[in-house]
Amino acid sequence: MFDKYNRRINYLRISVTDRCNLRCVYCMPAEGIQLMQHDEILSFDEILEVVNAAVEQGIDKIRITGGEPLVRRGIVDLVRMIGQIKGVKDFGMTTNGIYLDKFAKPLFDAGLQRINVSLDTMNPEKYKALTRLGDINMVLNGIDAAKKAGLDPIKINCVIKESSKEKDAQEVSEFCIKNDLKIRFIREMDLEKGQFWKVQGGEGGSCQICNRLRLTSNGKIKPCLFSDLEYDVRELGVKQALNLALGNKPKSGTQSLINKFSNIGG
Ligand code: SF4
Repeated sequence: MFDKYNRRINYLRISVTDRCNLRCVYCMPAEGIQLMQHDEILSFDEILEVVNAAVEQGIDKIRITGGEPLVRRGIVDLVRMIGQIKGVKDFGMTTNGIYLDKFAKPLFDAGLQRINVSLDTMNPEKYKALTRLGDINMVLNGIDAAKKAGLDPIKINCVIKESSKEKDAQEVSEFCIKNDLKIRFIREMDLEKGQFWKVQGGEGGSCQICNRLRLTSNGKIKPCLFSDLEYDVRELGVKQALNLALGNKPKSGTQSLINKFSNIGG
């Protein structure tokens, strides 16, 4: 499918939860966020209905995000169900890697193809401070498990302040070279101020060629991260919500006062 700016829209990012097992300083306040009620969160059947309708309209790339997707109960079953949908050609997930050691093989066996793991520093103390809760060794074990499982490519999402020349970014980059991993540098974004940059080593942040829609964990289809436009699949029905999101996709992002990275998955 194409939007009114003739951009091919073939990518759906699905946030499956607003919950997370970390409290990264640039994403969540230390005390966490007001979590959604269980019945606000889309069921697997509702997510599958959206994916099937989206694939019918030309979506062939799916990425699962969160919060942290690996804290969603039954996530491997959901991956299996999405993986079986004909037309899904490119199937990935973004995770903080804390539970990846345990889930890598089951996810791969269920049909997941690729994985992005968040890692902003190689320094254990800094990692703990940045995530407020995390143990970097669990992430490194998770990356190893992803390799052994056959997930490919494995990409490292490294959040930077301004430049990939920053010390932590350079150390993560060296780690990636040594371990044959791909790295993406993501400058810290500000939704309210409308501050975002092209992802170095990725496609994100390039409005001219933007190919994505997002589904939030509570069932809103969003045509753009830096916009407050959203269409509720429960209120409008899946097809109508998809069509409205596609039809109203802005030429480029401006700002968002309602989006939170924790429930939209970046
Ligand atoms: S700001 Fe919006 S249009 Fe631009 S790349 Fe991001 S999602 Fe696409």
